[in-house]
Amino acid sequence: MSAAPMPARWHTWAEDLLLQPETLAQMARVVGDTFHVLDPATFADNLAAFSAAFDDCGVDGRIRYGYKANKARAFVRECASAASAARGRFGVDVASVEEFGAALTAGVRGEEIVVTGPAHGDEMLRLAARHDAVVAIDSLESVRRLCARPPAEDLGILLRLRPPGATTRFGLTDGQVRVALSELRDCKRIVLRGMSFHLSGYDIAPRAAMAHHAIDLCLAARDCGHRPEMISLGGGFAVDYLDRRHWDAYRAEEVAQWYFDGNAPASLYPYAPDVAGAEMLSAVLGTSRSQRAPGDHSGSVAQRVRDLSLRIMVEPGRALCDGAGFSVFTVRGIHHTPDGTAVVTVSGTSLSLSEQWFGSEFLPDPRLIDLDEDTAPHGHTTETMSAVVAGSTCLDGDLLSRRRIRFPRRAKVGDLLVYPNTAGYQMDSNESEFHQTPLPPKLVVRQRDTTTTWSIDR
Ligand SMILES: *Cc1c(COP(=O)(O)O)cnc(C)c1O
Repeated sequence: MSAAPMPARWHTWAEDLLLQPETLAQMARVVGDTFHVLDPATFADNLAAFSAAFDDCGVDGRIRYGYKANKARAFVRECASAASAARGRFGVDVASVEEFGAALTAGVRGEEIVVTGPAHGDEMLRLAARHDAVVAIDSLESVRRLCARPPAEDLGILLRLRPPGATTRFGLTDGQVRVALSELRDCKRIVLRGMSFHLSGYDIAPRAAMAHHAIDLCLAARDCGHRPEMISLGGGFAVDYLDRRHWDAYRAEEVAQWYFDGNAPASLYPYAPDVAGAEMLSAVLGTSRSQRAPGDHSGSVAQRVRDLSLRIMVEPGRALCDGAGFSVFTVRGIHHTPDGTAVVTVSGTSLSLSEQWFGSEFLPDPRLIDLDEDTAPHGHTTETMSAVVAGSTCLDGDLLSRRRIRFPRRAKVGDLLVYPNTAGYQMDSNESEFHQTPLPPKLVVRQRDTTTTWSIDR
């Protein structure tokens, strides 16, 4: 039984490239059977859309790319070149010394870097202080450790707030923030620059509520003698992968029998959100408080930060990668299990499609590309085929698609199987050199007039 079709939104550059199988074949000949393709121009368009959302409401905004979503050097270089045209606005959110170094190497300035993640080591703190990066501090213990052993130079910090009611290991409670505000007064070389948070889920209302709360805490910090200048709303800006109709149909019709092991995933990414990307930022910025206490400042998030001369930082990862990459695998074999399930085995592994490793399923359908067009119009290749997709490892659970996908024709050995829109988290966050196979390379395409040139990302 095939799963409902999930036609992906293919961006124009990707659609154009799929219509040039000779270019894909050439890439495969040079770098091997498994590779990722990236379009930095789309990443740059996404940066510009976030920037326009800030301009539209007159907010002094900072966009810091959540680097963990994709390691491509080409993307951080786009952050650097955007930053050189608009000082301060663009930069990178890093969570390791290696990401910090890669951002600097790509040309991003230290002052354009925010450091997130838990319990930073001394090397990271020294680096951040040296380069004027701002560091989000996520526990009261870390605040105290910093005060006890400050870096040799001034270090700007944000206090990461704990979302009320959430089960999370990150962030300070309101009570801890108040303690930190008081202890930080006597703390040499640590400069409180603002408040930050990062919420799971993709809803607008809780982000707006947290933003208002972060503004309140900045006011409390000013009352304590600090001079906070910004709030960071973190990431979590949704991506619109699929047409709403298809997504609704999938959820309405989904049955366990669609899946190879007879189990439907416990949860799925919200593949067709009402509001996504930069529009979601505009929606958060435009939201006023639902309930106001007496004496509260009224107005939307944007109005309040303008009135109080604060800035807003965002740390989008996935949303900046939207549409900026796809992943190519080569069909190695097709066989049937005794229950009649067709299994298409491809080069590479599902470690290059991370969603599969969170007990979930990456829903946008992959596309089969025939590299010898001559055979396509004839005979057996035109029959449809329903199959799951497996990686070429010895792990039974290594399935790129656990659901039975209906393909418009029979797959054959040597076809390419292309998964759409994989740049955000799918292609490289879980990759490994399992079986000593090298990591799939990333190829960067550039469109000049009508010609496509490509190079290896490094
Ligand atoms: C992962 C992360 C981000 C990016 O999240 P996205 O969902 O990719 O936008 C931003 N900030 C922090 C602190 C993170 O941990």
